[in-house]
Amino acid sequence: MSDCIFCKIVRGEIKVDFLYESDKVVAFKDIRPLAPIHYLIIPKEHIPSMNDISKDQQSLLGEMLLCATELAKEAGIDQGGYKLLIRTGNHGGQEVPHIHLHLIGGARLSEGIRAINS
Ligand code: 5GP
Ligand code: ZN
Repeated sequence: MSDCIFCKIVRGEIKVDFLYESDKVVAFKDIRPLAPIHYLIIPKEHIPSMNDISKDQQSLLGEMLLCATELAKEAGIDQGGYKLLIRTGNHGGQEVPHIHLHLIGGARLSEGIRAINS
């Protein structure tokens, strides 16, 4: 999808430093970090949300998760702990319609997952 902001990042039309790059996945820093470490791990392919994942994309999700654990080690936050998050759709609070895995850590994190009005 040409006007997708994360596709533009993948194509190099928006310049960011990649923390990881393979033929299928890239990772880079979130522009509005919620914690000292806040990275986004995304597929190069435009996949709008987890609702669009098919069985033959299991290995892609595995690569994204392993990328996150490797980056957590590299950043030195693995032992302290971190949060991995994939928001999906309106109720999930997804802002950018291109799957992205958040790696958030470097400080103790708030719970931040309770439903509104519950
Ligand atoms: P969501 O709310 O969809 O799970 O997360 C989208 C994330 O993308 C947000 O944390 C937001 O700060 C980040 N983001 C949005 N636009 C850009 C951008 O142009 N560059 C980078 N590096 N991050 C972005
Ligand atoms: Zn996209």
